[in-house]
Amino acid sequence: MVALLLSDESLDDQAQEMIYYGADRVITVTHDNLKNYTSEGYGQVLMSVIDEESPDGIVMGHTAIGKDLTPKIASRLDIGLISDATDIDVDGDQVVFTRPIYSGKAFEKKTIKEGITFATIRPNNIASLEKDESRTGDIQTKEIDVQDLRTIVKEVIRKQSEGVDMSEASVVIAGGRGVRSAEGFDQLYELADILGGAVGASRGACDAEYCDYSLQIGQTGKVITPDLYIAVGISGAIQHLAGMSNSKVIVAINKDPEANIFNVADYGIVGALFEVLPMLIEEIKQLQ
Ligand SMILES: Cc1cc2nc3c(=O)[nH]c(=O)nc-3n(C[C@H](O)[C@H](O)[C@H](O)COP(=O)(O)OP(=O)(O)OC[C@H]3O[C@@H](n4cnc5c(N)ncnc54)[C@H](O)[C@@H]3O)c2cc1C
Repeated sequence: MVALLLSDESLDDQAQEMIYYGADRVITVTHDNLKNYTSEGYGQVLMSVIDEESPDGIVMGHTAIGKDLTPKIASRLDIGLISDATDIDVDGDQVVFTRPIYSGKAFEKKTIKEGITFATIRPNNIASLEKDESRTGDIQTKEIDVQDLRTIVKEVIRKQSEGVDMSEASVVIAGGRGVRSAEGFDQLYELADILGGAVGASRGACDAEYCDYSLQIGQTGKVITPDLYIAVGISGAIQHLAGMSNSKVIVAINKDPEANIFNVADYGIVGALFEVLPMLIEEIKQLQ
């Protein structure tokens, strides 16, 4: 397995890390024009590496970059692409990918029968191999002159966010319209703090300006797969489920026993959230 790393600065440490996690060989490409992602810049590198390596398969994360870049590469190479796979299996000599359809209501299995097997994988959905620091492998630096870009991203100004990044968090406490105000989210932040998790939200809560759209989970928000997802005052609309239904354990707190969120929840608490949350916070504190 060969890993490809791109940046404008040295990638030796990251390359070594990739080997510890299972790569046999790592190709690194550094160039000033790779400082910030552009589909043209990354595309030039990927096309050049594919041309030289003739891989049987390529996988990328189903991240903002993966989602933007892979269709362009597939179209250039005139090959198929399986996007947002949540599972990979091998059946004989075929690689079988599982991916959600209809906003996660059903799953389909797909293989690519001809040409390069090309897929994007939903982040955090497939467990990584154990880190093995005794593994060794080749790290190759490849010179590619990334030029003639029609777009150059000069600066990226990231929104300041406090605490744990929701996409990486193993625990996410998400609030919905039922939380009723921005202040209502304070208790969710308290619970997230105790559990070392992050806070997320439904679109209902974002539309109501209880929190920022960067916290939105769902079809038009972030897709996450934490170990524990606690939905607080969220009805469980299909567009919301599309972003969280693959979480390992789902807990729902809702005053309506008929709320759709209970259909995907492993544990449900029927009750008023401002009564349930303080009790939950207290109980968890006692256990720590
Ligand atoms: C094209 C499209 C894309 C969309 N994309 C997304 C998306 O990415 N993510 C997303 O989330 N939504 C998305 N939506 C919106 C989605 O359809 C729902 O409208 C939204 O998810 C509802 O948010 P909610 O569950 O917070 O609010 P509501 O549906 O209003 O639910 C609030 C819930 O809180 C409960 N509640 C109220 N008070 C309390 C209390 N005191 N204690 C306990 N429970 C209480 C209620 O019983 C209710 O179940 C999209 C819609 C469209 C059309």
